[in-house]
Amino acid sequence: MTNEFSRFNLDPKLVQAVDQLGYTSPMDVQVQVIPLMLAGEDVIAQSQTGSGKTAAFALPILQNLATQENLRGVQALILTPTRELAIQVADAVSQYGSLLDVEVMPVYGGQHYGTSKRRIKKGVDVIVGTPGRLQDLIRQDILDLSGVHTVVLDEADEMLSMGFIEDIENILGETPTKRQTSLFSATLPKPIRRLADKYMIAPQSIIIKGKQLTVATIEQRYYLVNEKEKLAALTRLIEVEDIGATLIFTRTRLDSGRLANELVQRGFSAEALNGDLAQDARIRVLNRFRTGQIRFLVATDVAARGLDIDDISHVFNYDLPTDPEAYVHRIGRTGRAGKDGIAISLITPDEKSRLNRIEKYTRQQLITAELPTESDVYKHRENHLIDRMTIWLERDRSKREQVIVEELVAAGHDPVKVAAAALKIVREGEKQRPVEKISEVRPIRSKSRRDKRKTEQRKGRRSISRKHKMHQFDKESGISHEEGMVRLSLAHGRVHGVSPGEIVGTIASRANIPGYTIGKILIHDRHTFVDVPEEYVSRVLGQTGAYKFRENPHVTIERAKV
Ligand code: AMP
Repeated sequence: MTNEFSRFNLDPKLVQAVDQLGYTSPMDVQVQVIPLMLAGEDVIAQSQTGSGKTAAFALPILQNLATQENLRGVQALILTPTRELAIQVADAVSQYGSLLDVEVMPVYGGQHYGTSKRRIKKGVDVIVGTPGRLQDLIRQDILDLSGVHTVVLDEADEMLSMGFIEDIENILGETPTKRQTSLFSATLPKPIRRLADKYMIAPQSIIIKGKQLTVATIEQRYYLVNEKEKLAALTRLIEVEDIGATLIFTRTRLDSGRLANELVQRGFSAEALNGDLAQDARIRVLNRFRTGQIRFLVATDVAARGLDIDDISHVFNYDLPTDPEAYVHRIGRTGRAGKDGIAISLITPDEKSRLNRIEKYTRQQLITAELPTESDVYKHRENHLIDRMTIWLERDRSKREQVIVEELVAAGHDPVKVAAAALKIVREGEKQRPVEKISEVRPIRSKSRRDKRKTEQRKGRRSISRKHKMHQFDKESGISHEEGMVRLSLAHGRVHGVSPGEIVGTIASRANIPGYTIGKILIHDRHTFVDVPEEYVSRVLGQTGAYKFRENPHVTIERAKV
């Protein structure tokens, strides 16, 4: 096989797995880290999200698993600051090890203890988890780390800023002292260096330099919002901003799918640029964005890599990146080719410290602004309507419509009332977009570690219940009750771990229809109901058997049985 990963003398199955993922040559961080970790060295790598660091530590871990026989118990432990990252990293490790017999398990707050216990008992080789929950499992004697060979601290600075240092120390204390330890971090503040001094043996340091972009022509604003009101804030802003093609960044790919779906439900033309999309699907989404068929592209840093589009009016940071350089990179997508660009960040009180880091890094202060009020939004809608009406009145090209008005007037209706009724019909779409309430942002309270762990657990629960709500919004399956829509049944569901965003993305790209036209989605265990506009039904059914999801590349779709 002529894949440059062969140079590391990895097991051929690992090279084949990365080859299948389309990796032909290793990225910088991989070139530097893989040989060191394979040689058993401890490594400190200063690198960012999106640099390819996951494969850099995962491949040596998997190589160890592939070459050692009769391994028992957990062999490798990867610590991540958040639940989302734990899932993302566990997914990546499973993919790299897909041709080996390797069991990878994510561990995070909110999971059912009984299920974790059963899985661990059956045998897990690699655990990827958040510090709080890992400690809980150790305390309850569910997790034994005495056989761990390698420990990776991923996004160590982020774990530090979340107050996890002590938990990390406790967890490291549960692993053998002769373990290999690697640490990945965007920055290396003092406490991280102290941690390294204490727990690592003669670590090799490497620095991966990222690109720096200029942000001088970009107007940078931020809005302080409560976490659960981010969506309401975003929708208010996109209603009143003079908006063109817009990029919205979220932290995880799951969030990007969810947010795109929420926007679509509100009548905005949005799609997620998903890291899971096959290359041709990605190209089709980008084409729809370039040609203006969709206005909002929701992406993660990773999915937006290499994205090169000139005419972006706004970049939104729905979540602030941890890494200031990622921020610069994100907002550099707007304000290109001499045009003005606007970068808007939604910031929760908890994210204030990230904002400070970004301001220090860019040596620029972001302007804080007030969200539009409910009445601003209504006023804006009306002004917009008046503008459009004025254009049509000036064009004087509505002859057919005039005939209809004349008929109504002849039938005895008052012309003003006729016009008002017409506007009422035009505004029907606004019902999809009720202006949601936004409450005042509470000042930051300095949280204890215990509070943080609770928040982590709550977050786990909250996103599960939010997901649940999304799947439940239409209990009476069968016919689609939205006029003009037809309910189809896709043979892929919850047990396959599918998200509404993935469904929209996959159907839209495979059948080549705009994602925002897809209606309600109701995810069941083994199938999903999807409402599709009548005019696209044959196109969607025509691709049955060709809908490709990660676990299932030949998914069928048919009319739902009523
Ligand atoms: P990470 O920083 O590990 O999250 O990786 C960033 C992105 O780069 C992910 O989408 C990976 O799938 C991708 N990636 C990692 N290594 C390579 C490689 N050698 N070639 C192409 N893509 C890669």
